[in-house]
Amino acid sequence: MTDTPIDWRLDALCADSNPDLWFPEPGQWGKPQQFALDQCKACPVREICLENLIQQETGEGGSHGTGGGLTAKERAEMIRVRSREAESEDSTPLHPDVAGG
Ligand code: SF4
Repeated sequence: MTDTPIDWRLDALCADSNPDLWFPEPGQWGKPQQFALDQCKACPVREICLENLIQQETGEGGSHGTGGGLTAKERAEMIRVRSREAESEDSTPLHPDVAGG
């Protein structure tokens, strides 16, 4: 078995770090957030982490903390963009050749 959620978390650079650095109290952003973003940048599992977070945060939960190399605000924007793109693809009329026209 490869790349199960448990497997990739074993390689996470944040695994042994203080979670407060990734999820600081409101008003405590700044140095902790920059430290977390720098760690994420160097993290070998950043891409799978980001996709996992995007999946978790799509819907009602919303985005919180730093993760996957992005701030919560950046991930929320990524979710909005992907959602708009998905809606746009759903509403794009089929090409006449495909639609039988
Ligand atoms: S990308 Fe960042 S939040 Fe994700 S596992 Fe790596 S260090 Fe942790």
